[in-house]
Amino acid sequence: MHHTTEHDILKESIHKLRETGVRITPQRQAVLNYMIKSDDHPTADDIYKALVDEFPNISVATVYNNLRLFKDTGLVNELPYGDASSRFDFITSAHYHVICTECGKITDFNYPALNEVETLAKHVTNFDITHHRMEVYGLCPECAENTNKS
Ligand SMILES: [Zn+2]
Ligand SMILES: [Zn+2]
Repeated sequence: MHHTTEHDILKESIHKLRETGVRITPQRQAVLNYMIKSDDHPTADDIYKALVDEFPNISVATVYNNLRLFKDTGLVNELPYGDASSRFDFITSAHYHVICTECGKITDFNYPALNEVETLAKHVTNFDITHHRMEVYGLCPECAENTNKS
């Protein structure tokens, strides 16, 4: 649909951070880059494990602090689902999540028609609608297969 490259998104995000006075360290840029490339809603721990070879000084706390900073700048969402540790999502376009109740895997999907629910809600209640949230739950293909085997 759009032809913005990951590199453009990285450049824009760094610009946005610099504007708010954030210093861009190599570690910070690596965490940001990981979030842009990732589509599996990583935890701070996932990101730490992926980056520790390249950045031996990095810690889970560093990753987490960066994620909080990106969240405050509006670059990532912290997903509010009842998991042991928070998962994070780079904000691209509006999408919904289907969540595996067995392993916690989160997959994106789009359903643009649902935007009409906001129009309807405004019409029916006269509220000034800002946003809506929806989650779908079930078993991911891997967990569904394991369930069938046992
Ligand atoms: Zn699963
Ligand atoms: Zn997502």
